[in-house]
Amino acid sequence: MPGNICAHTHFYGAFARGLAIPGDPPQDFPDILARLWWRLDKSLTLDDVRYSALVCLVDAVKHGTTTLIDHHASPNAIDGSLDVIADAVGQAGLRACLCYEVTDRDGPDRAQTGIRENVRFAQSLVSTPQPQLAATFGLHASLTLSAETLDACRAAHSGGFHVHVAEHEADEYDSLKRSGTRAVDRLERHGLLGPRTIAAHCVHIDSREAELLARTQTWVTHQPRSNMNNAVGAAGIEGLLRQGVRVALGNDGFSNAMWDEWKAAYLYHKAAHRDPRRAGGYTITQMAVTNNAALARVFFPQAPLGVIAPGAFADLIFVDYHATTPLTAGNLPWHILFGFESSMVTATLCAGRLLMHDRKLLFLDEAEITARSRELAAQVWRRFADS
Ligand SMILES: [Zn+2]
Repeated sequence: MPGNICAHTHFYGAFARGLAIPGDPPQDFPDILARLWWRLDKSLTLDDVRYSALVCLVDAVKHGTTTLIDHHASPNAIDGSLDVIADAVGQAGLRACLCYEVTDRDGPDRAQTGIRENVRFAQSLVSTPQPQLAATFGLHASLTLSAETLDACRAAHSGGFHVHVAEHEADEYDSLKRSGTRAVDRLERHGLLGPRTIAAHCVHIDSREAELLARTQTWVTHQPRSNMNNAVGAAGIEGLLRQGVRVALGNDGFSNAMWDEWKAAYLYHKAAHRDPRRAGGYTITQMAVTNNAALARVFFPQAPLGVIAPGAFADLIFVDYHATTPLTAGNLPWHILFGFESSMVTATLCAGRLLMHDRKLLFLDEAEITARSRELAAQVWRRFADS
């Protein structure tokens, strides 16, 4: 099969696995940001950035995800962080598009440093192209960005952006308060939408915002496991697709086992709407196969992705699946949804190069990465507890 593609992820979140948030359980998504993610990302050094990326890349090779679009934050280790991640991607042999999430939450100096990191990394790929790496420009979300910083990002870059949009209604209320308009309109006014921009989540947008996303051909990514975990609501993916918005499937830092994300999407919308007709198999494949491949091609235009065809990138996986019922081209999505497990991936290739054979990783030392990440994560957790 073609390798799986992940349209939105966060390698930096790997060390959150098993981490307890002290005190009462967070009550909503803004509370989760403040008490988990904005403390965890500040606890990361460049070494932690490297190992959290490697942990995710091991997971991706093992579970057949060959292209990943990452969105990175490490406010105390911004300079050079994208090079560190790029090194890890190169070591893994996978394909990735990287960016740094610019934000004002740590003051104007760090916002500037984030802008510089995006620009520097993109320019480094122009001067020294690496066929399996691409760059875009990251922004955290409207709710942590001033008008001045949005303009500074637009002035620094014109090739598309990667930004969280209306993941929680707080993003919309903040935008209305700051600008008198909603989050998508606000980003549009600052020139940040377009056919190379990714708007992750879009759970709380209204119909006018959906129309703007369709008109500007902005990509939307859907992350159902994350949306359930943060209890932010169910994005109106079917309406967006009907309106012509290109909705792709990401994992927001959950495991790089993309079939688990398929299953979550398939089940979530049925449960949320109490309607078994929601999020059918074709809707899932539209996002996870067709649209993910088209989005990945924005960043890797040299050849088709997500298909097995002469001239396409040889990003391939072998799946040890023995169907106990008839398997046809027409019913493959339902075999994936009800029968496939990511542990059935036995071999992974990217750009024609074998990265895993008989479930054995050929370029990443999983034991070393696991042992070192466990040591580093313990130190990150100590800094997190002290913060
Ligand atoms: Zn995200």
